[in-house]
Amino acid sequence: MKTIDDLNFSGKKALVRVDFNVPLDKATLEVTDQTRLKAALNTIRKILNDGGSVILMSHLGRPKNGPEERFSLKHITKALSQLLDRKIQFANNCVGEEAKEMASKLGPGGVLLLENLRFHPEEEKGDQIFARQLADLGDIYVNDAFGTAHRRHASTAEIANFFPGRKYFGYVMAGEVDNANKVLNSAQKPFTAIVGGAKVSDKILIIEQLMNKVSSIIIGGGMAYTFFKAMGGNIGSSLCEDDKLDLANNLLETAKQKGVKIYLPSDSIIADKFSADANNKVSESDQIPDGWMGLDIGPKASKNFSQVILSSKTILWNGPMGVFEMGPFSKGTQAIAESVAEATSTGAFSLIGGGDSAAAINKFGLAGKVSYVSTGGGALLEYIEGKKLPGVEMLLKD
Ligand code: AMP
Repeated sequence: MKTIDDLNFSGKKALVRVDFNVPLDKATLEVTDQTRLKAALNTIRKILNDGGSVILMSHLGRPKNGPEERFSLKHITKALSQLLDRKIQFANNCVGEEAKEMASKLGPGGVLLLENLRFHPEEEKGDQIFARQLADLGDIYVNDAFGTAHRRHASTAEIANFFPGRKYFGYVMAGEVDNANKVLNSAQKPFTAIVGGAKVSDKILIIEQLMNKVSSIIIGGGMAYTFFKAMGGNIGSSLCEDDKLDLANNLLETAKQKGVKIYLPSDSIIADKFSADANNKVSESDQIPDGWMGLDIGPKASKNFSQVILSSKTILWNGPMGVFEMGPFSKGTQAIAESVAEATSTGAFSLIGGGDSAAAINKFGLAGKVSYVSTGGGALLEYIEGKKLPGVEMLLKD
């Protein structure tokens, strides 16, 4: 893997694909969460400190038909310029005469931000001509957008064809791939995967893939109830995918054959409606009365899961244990987050990833107490499922 540390960027114009898909305030259009801007700073600074210049390209939101004011990347220039402590130039179109001229005039230390790539439908189509137009703006290609690495878009994948021998992993991208590889290829045992969230169907591939690597799989969240129903339990009106009952049984059978221990939450916090102000109580997870639904793992399950986590050397966590966004149903996810942090403090390697688990670990203030929080979402899941990510593959190929 060639990272930006393998090159001195002095006098070079680096075209850097970043993930600046940040949330903006609806009224003021100011950046409300700078996490993704901050994540890119080390890569940008390294290039500038070497004496190079940086051309930044990103998408923002999901514009449908060309340019839309609320998705313009110009709204992030103020925040980015403050973080970098220097002026940033902005090109109103990511390709075309203006971008070309601004890029050609960019001197060492200069930073040019291009307008939203997705204002051109060619971006998501992976259009070759569009990729070429972008490529013409810089001397070197750096990809630092792991969050879109599973997409074969023009700026994330196709563009790399135009930089043979001149393409590099940025620090974010390299960190993500290194940490995912640690879990996939050199995990110390016992290795525990914690899988939660709403749907079994979203996580089947990851569970199947992990069966070949882990010692134990903890299953929580809404998806656990499909397993309880498959085993003949009563789950009331809990989330359930009735077309996945056979699959759930098959997964349990495969685990048995492979010697992988599956832990399901023996008890649940159940509620009489899907709402923070619902009545709630503890119930065995396979004896949930009609009209009630499981919205969090219960105290016995929390204790049981925590013991498994604390005896693990490698931990991968994807998906919350319950509806953690609502106070009364957040305790299970919090207990698991705390156990992962505790296991990490005594030497385990912990990787947290996939959208909501990262949000949960941040919510409980534990992001600094686990080994790595992935920004990847879908990209991390696909990587762990064993799929090749176009954004990564295209950087590796020469
Ligand atoms: P996912 O995107 O599949 O990881 O699912 C995350 C979402 O699942 C979160 O918004 C949780 O609120 C939701 N969730 C977790 N547990 C449950 C549950 N028992 N019932 C309903 N939704 C749940």
